[in-house]
Amino acid sequence: MILYNLNHIASKNWDLPTRALIASLFFLFGAVILNAQAPHCHTDEMLGNHLDQKSIKEEIALYEEQLSNTSPTRDEGIVHTIPVVVHIIHAGESIGNGPNLSQTKILEQLDILNDDFNQLNADQNLIPAEFAGLAANVEIEFCLARTTPDGNATNGITRSEYGSISSINFIESNIKPQTQWDPTRYMNLWIVRMPDPSILGYAYLPSPTFLHTHLDGVVLSHLKVGNQNSTTRGRTLVHEVGHYLGLPHLWGFTENDCDEDDFISDTPAVRTPYYGCPSYPQFTCGTSDMFMNYMDYVDDNCMHMFTEGQKTVMRSIINNQRKSLISNTDTACSTTVSTNNSPELNELVKIYPNPCQDDLTISTPDNHTIQSITVYDSSGRVLDFQVIPHKDSSSTYYLDTNAYQDGMHVLKIETRTGESYAKRFVKLTN
Ligand SMILES: [Zn+2]
Repeated sequence: MILYNLNHIASKNWDLPTRALIASLFFLFGAVILNAQAPHCHTDEMLGNHLDQKSIKEEIALYEEQLSNTSPTRDEGIVHTIPVVVHIIHAGESIGNGPNLSQTKILEQLDILNDDFNQLNADQNLIPAEFAGLAANVEIEFCLARTTPDGNATNGITRSEYGSISSINFIESNIKPQTQWDPTRYMNLWIVRMPDPSILGYAYLPSPTFLHTHLDGVVLSHLKVGNQNSTTRGRTLVHEVGHYLGLPHLWGFTENDCDEDDFISDTPAVRTPYYGCPSYPQFTCGTSDMFMNYMDYVDDNCMHMFTEGQKTVMRSIINNQRKSLISNTDTACSTTVSTNNSPELNELVKIYPNPCQDDLTISTPDNHTIQSITVYDSSGRVLDFQVIPHKDSSSTYYLDTNAYQDGMHVLKIETRTGESYAKRFVKLTN
């Protein structure tokens, strides 16, 4: 039946994103059996597992109806921002140990994600010449949420203790429904110690069965967060967010079939995933394989690009199925250093010593207790964001600057009385 439907779909002359989405649909039904020992993304298996009991025809009909209302949108030059909430699931480890990752590690991972989605990755010069012209700036940014669904301040990170995780099913049935933030407004990212260490991560495609349900979001192994070693450079998340925004694997939903791939025209057909770091060129379906694409399985240091076709699919999803994410951006993640304080109040806010070596003392007027502190580097990148718990609220705060590099920084201070202040300080080690 699947073969029949494939031929039926292939005979239609759909536009690129529609064909990619249809490919995603079939992808749902094709559980790929992978070598359990090989590190891999678990997306194919998860999608197949959940649909075992469903009527395939019914799902196809629903999906086709959804696709008919989806038009390709690239809105060139507009950077869309997606609010992210990171749910760290640990077993009681202290912050910085095991899966209970530090905020610094999370920020490092977000930087990698933003670099790759905005074609700022330093290794793009390694893309072979035949593919370099296809490499795309996807123009999608990700920010840690600043506001909870209830409107409270947050640093965009939640921490929950669950003991050891015995199965993927426990994540899907317990952890997700108990911790998820509104999936129409936030991209939920769960960081866990995987029960099977060969599983690096998984995410659901935005299809009717999964979109905006308690399953919707990305799950990532804590061992794959940020820069870990020479071959693990934070790109498992780049790959999984590709799925979250509608991209299938390059080989489609079945391996060893050159007639079926991701249906995106500028990613060449490929028979199977690549692992490790292959030498260029490689051929499996008669044309040179684009194994350096983020949607393959090569080591992180050997993947460098999304294509223009993949960009079109992801931006169509952002402008249709996942549009509510970007409408939430203004309230959920303001990233600019804007302030609203009066000059008189500004005079009363002190930071010292400046330049500073270790602790920077921040002092606000009496009765204007500090709610949050944000530190930016000179290029406007967020280095640190701390929410002060109500019980610790005070008009004096000591900021440890040891993790920052020497140079000019901008500090944004928000108080519980609603003012915000921006101050410059210089970090100077010696
Ligand atoms: Zn994958």
